[in-house]
Amino acid sequence: MTTHREPLPSVLETIGETPLVRVHDSPDSAPVYAKLESFNPGASIKDRIGKHMLERMLERGDIDPGGTVIEPTAGNTGIGLAVAAKQLGLQAVFVVPERFSVEKQQLMRALGADVVNTPSEEGMGYAIDRAHELAAELDNATVPQQFSNPLNAEAHYETTAPEIDEALDGAVGAVVAGCGTAGTLMGTARYFRERDANTHIVAVEPDGSAYREFLGHDVAHETYKTEGIGTHDIATNELFDPDLVDEIRAISDRHVHEEMGRLAAEEGHLAASSAAANSVAAKAVAEAIADGEIDAPHDTVVTVFPDSSERYLSKGVYRSFEEWEG
Ligand code: PMP
Repeated sequence: MTTHREPLPSVLETIGETPLVRVHDSPDSAPVYAKLESFNPGASIKDRIGKHMLERMLERGDIDPGGTVIEPTAGNTGIGLAVAAKQLGLQAVFVVPERFSVEKQQLMRALGADVVNTPSEEGMGYAIDRAHELAAELDNATVPQQFSNPLNAEAHYETTAPEIDEALDGAVGAVVAGCGTAGTLMGTARYFRERDANTHIVAVEPDGSAYREFLGHDVAHETYKTEGIGTHDIATNELFDPDLVDEIRAISDRHVHEEMGRLAAEEGHLAASSAAANSVAAKAVAEAIADGEIDAPHDTVVTVFPDSSERYLSKGVYRSFEEWEG
């Protein structure tokens, strides 16, 4: 952990201790606070798991020094793992469905990693299988597997959640976070539920995504433009524990697009689509707490802004809704 006020020996020491900032478009009686994760060196929340997973895996002997990590990833995890891998003396290879943003793939390569693309229509499940095949072909290679590795959620249990707790003196009534792997939400939810079992926990996904199937709902699977969260195959999302979640909110791309623009124009946040989905959901939860519809142990709602919109400018995030390419 760092205060960012003294010289640091490595970029790894700059991960975490991100700012927690009030979202002004939320009720004074139930304020929303967002953790700005683009302040990390790889500019996303995934730097936390890159560092945590690789350090722990080296400690445990799950990877040997000089070995290779191969990960199926939509991008931010690749960047986070690539930042950490090089500093920890490891090689990195990423298997990325090709529809994900080109900026992220360029950054992974710049950080010294190899990128293998898979067809978008085959989905994340195929990328996961491909990563395991590649690992089997190489000596001394391991797949950290963020979708099933408990170290992913543990990174947030040990860093993200205690930082929020300390900043708000423990007064956290609700936690709201979009789920990709669900590592962020699960780690943070477990921490705050241990503090107070009544902490209200809300998962967020795009409209058209299938996380609500975990709660027994029927979902019409559709494509969506919001990037980094959601699933089309809940069997892939092994970390998600429905017992840790009070509700799952689905947010439309239109609402996300509008909020991305509003966050920039009104509040100075260059936050990307998953941050905007979190903001929409967190504000709704805050309104419900303010109106007495949700009974939370405290009035404050926390969420995360996982990365920056700059990473998606080539996809037209600030152009019209129709011009925004998902
Ligand atoms: N937002 C973005 C931009 C992401 O890249 C991710 C990770 N896929 C998430 C949100 C979701 O985080 P998690 O995997 O911890 O659920």
